[in-house]
Amino acid sequence: MPGREMRLVVSLSNIRIVLVEPSHPGNIGGAARALKTMGLKRLYLVRPDRYPDPQAQWRAAGAQDVLEATIVCEKLSEAIAGCHWVVGTSTRQRRIPWPAADAESVAAQVLSAAQAGEVAIVFGRENNGLSNEELQRCHMHLQIPAYTGYSSLNLAMAVQVVSYEIFKQAQATPVVEARWDRPPATSAELEGLLAHFERVLVRGEFIDAGNPGQTLTRLRRMLTRMEADETEVQMLRGILSHLDRRSAGSRDGTGE
Ligand code: SAH
Repeated sequence: MPGREMRLVVSLSNIRIVLVEPSHPGNIGGAARALKTMGLKRLYLVRPDRYPDPQAQWRAAGAQDVLEATIVCEKLSEAIAGCHWVVGTSTRQRRIPWPAADAESVAAQVLSAAQAGEVAIVFGRENNGLSNEELQRCHMHLQIPAYTGYSSLNLAMAVQVVSYEIFKQAQATPVVEARWDRPPATSAELEGLLAHFERVLVRGEFIDAGNPGQTLTRLRRMLTRMEADETEVQMLRGILSHLDRRSAGSRDGTGE
């Protein structure tokens, strides 16, 4: 069915794989090869230790095109800025639990999210994975089921497993047209909303800037779970600005 094939290609091209501070160039090449074998093309690197590097080229083998098209960023926020859905990969559950599932079920959600716009899957450092802050930038956490005695896969192999699950789902899942009247909010728009919340909550003395506790993290978790669209984000920002002006007025004695 040509229509279906085209939509699948479109959704795969909306998926980017992000490696945060990879230290071994061999893993970058291995990841490029993993992507290409599974029909993915878009590799992003955040502050790689050594790149470009002959070892990356060597490990990429027939995936030089993916390697050459790799985008290098200074910050994770740049690598995921245009994405409306971000998945963080991790071997373990963190202190504040986040929505999490195994590679197979997240792959199905990745594909359906990729029909609505850009999606990122973020991988961590070889030695210590992703930080809590980086994982909290994500809508969902993905775990590759593995032996409990040693569940940490090599970075490029983890990319291979996740890419394979996406490819497998792309072959098997009937394509359902995404239906929504507004585009989903991007990661950058969500960050703007959270920064706005923080400013207003500090100004209104709802939280103490020096000791914010878990309020902002829990707010972040709620907002990412909601998967708001861009109009909803604008609306919330409009409400915040309005309430902030009102309470500034009443603090100065000029408002009601
Ligand atoms: N020692 C690190 C693991 C680093 S492995 C830690 O404990 O967090 C490098 C990266 O490969 C991880 O950050 C993650 O992106 C991916 N990875 C490895 N094993 C994984 C697994 N079982 N599930 C999900 N991601 C995994």
